[in-house]
Amino acid sequence: MAIACALALATVGAAAQPLAPPPTELNDLRLVRDFFPGTTYRSSVPTVQSLLGFPAAAHAATAAEIEKCLKAWAAAAPDRTRLVEYARTYEQRPLYYMIVTAPTNLARLDAIQAGLDKLGDPRTTTAAEADELIATLPAVGWLGYTIHGDETEGSDAALVVLYHLIAAEDAAVRQLLEEVVVIVDPLMNPDGRDRFVKMIAEHRGAHPNVDDQSLVHDGYWPYGRGNHYLFDLNRDSLWCAHPETRGRIRAMTRWHPQLVVDAHGMGSQETHLFSPPREPINPNIPAGRARWAEVFARDQAQAFDRHQLLYYTGEWHEEWYPGYTDGWASYRGAIGILYEQARVAEDGVRRPEGRILSYSESVQHHVVGSLANLATLKNHGRDLRRNLYETRRAALAADGPYARRTFAVAPTPNRSRLKDFAALLEIQGIELFVATTNLAVPQATDQLGRAYTNLTLAAGTLLIPNRQPLGHLLAAMLEFDPRFSPAVLADERTELLRKGRSRVYDVTAWNLTMMYGLEAHTLSGALPEAVRPYAAPPADPRGVLREPTVTTAYVIDGADDLSVTAAARLMERGLQVCVAEKPFRFEETDFARGSVLVTALDNRHFAGDLRQTVRHTVEELGLSGIAIGAGLGAGDLPDLGGSHFQRLERPRIGVFGREGVSSTDFGAIWYVLDQYLGIRHAHLDNSGRLDLDRYNVLVVPEGRGASLAANLKDWVKAGGTLVAIGSSANAFTTEKALFSRVRPLPEVLGRLADYELAIFREWLGHTKAVPPAETVWTHKAMPNVVYPWQAVDGPHPDEKELKKRDAWQNLFMPQGALLASRVDTNHWLTVGCGELLPTLVSRQPVLMAAEGVDAPIRYGYLTPTFVVTNAAGSPSAPPPRPNPAVPLTKRSRTRRTRKNLHASAGAPCPRVPNCTCA
Ligand SMILES: [Zn+2]
Repeated sequence: MAIACALALATVGAAAQPLAPPPTELNDLRLVRDFFPGTTYRSSVPTVQSLLGFPAAAHAATAAEIEKCLKAWAAAAPDRTRLVEYARTYEQRPLYYMIVTAPTNLARLDAIQAGLDKLGDPRTTTAAEADELIATLPAVGWLGYTIHGDETEGSDAALVVLYHLIAAEDAAVRQLLEEVVVIVDPLMNPDGRDRFVKMIAEHRGAHPNVDDQSLVHDGYWPYGRGNHYLFDLNRDSLWCAHPETRGRIRAMTRWHPQLVVDAHGMGSQETHLFSPPREPINPNIPAGRARWAEVFARDQAQAFDRHQLLYYTGEWHEEWYPGYTDGWASYRGAIGILYEQARVAEDGVRRPEGRILSYSESVQHHVVGSLANLATLKNHGRDLRRNLYETRRAALAADGPYARRTFAVAPTPNRSRLKDFAALLEIQGIELFVATTNLAVPQATDQLGRAYTNLTLAAGTLLIPNRQPLGHLLAAMLEFDPRFSPAVLADERTELLRKGRSRVYDVTAWNLTMMYGLEAHTLSGALPEAVRPYAAPPADPRGVLREPTVTTAYVIDGADDLSVTAAARLMERGLQVCVAEKPFRFEETDFARGSVLVTALDNRHFAGDLRQTVRHTVEELGLSGIAIGAGLGAGDLPDLGGSHFQRLERPRIGVFGREGVSSTDFGAIWYVLDQYLGIRHAHLDNSGRLDLDRYNVLVVPEGRGASLAANLKDWVKAGGTLVAIGSSANAFTTEKALFSRVRPLPEVLGRLADYELAIFREWLGHTKAVPPAETVWTHKAMPNVVYPWQAVDGPHPDEKELKKRDAWQNLFMPQGALLASRVDTNHWLTVGCGELLPTLVSRQPVLMAAEGVDAPIRYGYLTPTFVVTNAAGSPSAPPPRPNPAVPLTKRSRTRRTRKNLHASAGAPCPRVPNCTCA
């Protein structure tokens, strides 16, 4: 005790002394505060120093500080600027873009936008008009910074660039602004940035810390990369899931920028990377991009050389996935350019060569790149406007690659799902149509790659012609299977074989109709004639329909995904809710499996107004609730009092988070519970002090399972529902864990026949084939019975061999493939799913369900062709098997060969004679 007190006193005493000077090495910190030496600035424009109390790029400014600068500059320099708020984050921070250009351009911004609209749609523009617009419009460059909140340098670079462009007196800047409309989006992820800036502040010491492993540079879970829900906004351009992205995409769509910069940070021990990317490059990237990226890169490299800065292009920078900000812009006819700068969060970091890279020097790289790119845009403005026009023209060409292709999405009673899908395409600027009658189309391909001739599409089918101004982007979003060139494929295989790693940087499978779970076809032809432009259906105004004299129950049709949301919200509002496990029909109305029921009897003690609560809930979701008076189901269909309407228990959900958990997986679960379902739930840390009895559902996101398995066993035995995601599922499925009879594949390689038998029984059930009736009613013992395991007990390679094969195949598996999966449509977990479900699979474990274990979804799908049993009641030939997990699309090859379904269809099954699996 005495020692502790003495130490405490000593500490207090020390704090009162002036700080010791920093170690000499830190005197070497190079502050690049004067980014443009010799420039004269207008005194009417306040500096960052005068506004914030520190020089630009001395350290990371907060979102509020950046906003303060933007507003001050907008007020001080109306002759050069317009400030536009384009969205608000979940945490209510505004997102802005600032237009900086010459007064002559500011005076005609509407006309510039209208001109770019015409240039962007060559169908509306004669060649002469296009020439005129190309000659007279200014260029538009969009500079975006810090979409990953912990890559802070970008936003501080944006302040430097903005101040320079707004305040500089020199002729070069004036000339630039005459010819270019510069749009600066200084902070694309304010919530993430402020979260990270707070982490920096928490770990800031009295002296600079140059160790890049320190929390002051790295932060801690959940870091600053994602937005409020921890989503990676630099993957969201394709999906527009978040307000930050939706606002930006809408704004960029209006401005048709010819240059789009996306400035990031990367590992602190790196240098600086900028575009162009290396292969694989998505084949839908417009042709002009590669040529122009070279031009921009040459100028950018010269600018870096002048400042003696190091940089590289290519290496790991590829452009396969189309959802990156810069890549997305390139499909639209812009030259998208990525910057990646060695990250420094504060002060500086020590580099491998011994020197210290300061924060301002890190910022400087983005500044030099931004100014170099703007200069290139100015110098080639006319050609880049023509490139935009020609890109759009190429997408519309009658003999182009997109001319004879139309995507068709089948109508569905799942109104909200189809509406969300259409709304996404509309945000992107894609044109949609609807079939006004049934349409016969000569050739089509479905999502499994099966070809059809003379397919009839129902009236109401959504039709999306690929031949439209944004055809490149549309193809990248919807087409089945873009392919690497043979040379890239060979390189990738070599890399995998020699180094055991892929050259592909990111996910290799995406497809919008599949990800939305919508049935779609690709038609080999132009847009049919019997169509009208799509218009979003009005919000369902129905509320509560029908008012019988006595209301027994309210029913919300399960055909719409939002019925699940309705169930969740009704329970949150204190109602008892049932869900139908089968389709049913009450009072002449059909309802889908999964429909939600609120009965008067169950809720007789509800303190509020039952009808009003149901009405309010369905109306806020755009659904309808049907009031029914009679609970007698039609024919054999369920009656209201029977066992097919299961009362739901109100979920009391805990989601495990923090260190060890994938923040993006945690964020996605959080988003669904919070934004989509509207269920209150707790975020938990596994500190060992939790009272788990408060929860009846616990969710373990990707990554954390192993540390939790022991703690949760008793809780599960007591009836808790455990949801384990991805790799976390491994911890609960091993033999040792004793949680379940489900096993990870590697654990059962020596016992595959048992699992095959389970699949075989499912398959026999699926075929609904019974022996001929006369053999059933013979009243005699059947001597020739063939037992199912005889069909599956063939010779299997031994476990050692299977492990070797598994490891070899794993080497070539892509990081992200869409697999065809078959759904048990009788299982409650699969409400809302059809028989076939595309599932996005990456590095998750493959789980094996033995006999007697429910497997709501299995990889692979069943063909309708099967062999009936012979007179003795046994299969006449070994039956076809379920197709093993069949890749639906884009098995690119991050770690694995690229082989699509088309290639495997019709190939004989190697193990089963006469097999027709495809
Ligand atoms: Zn980044």
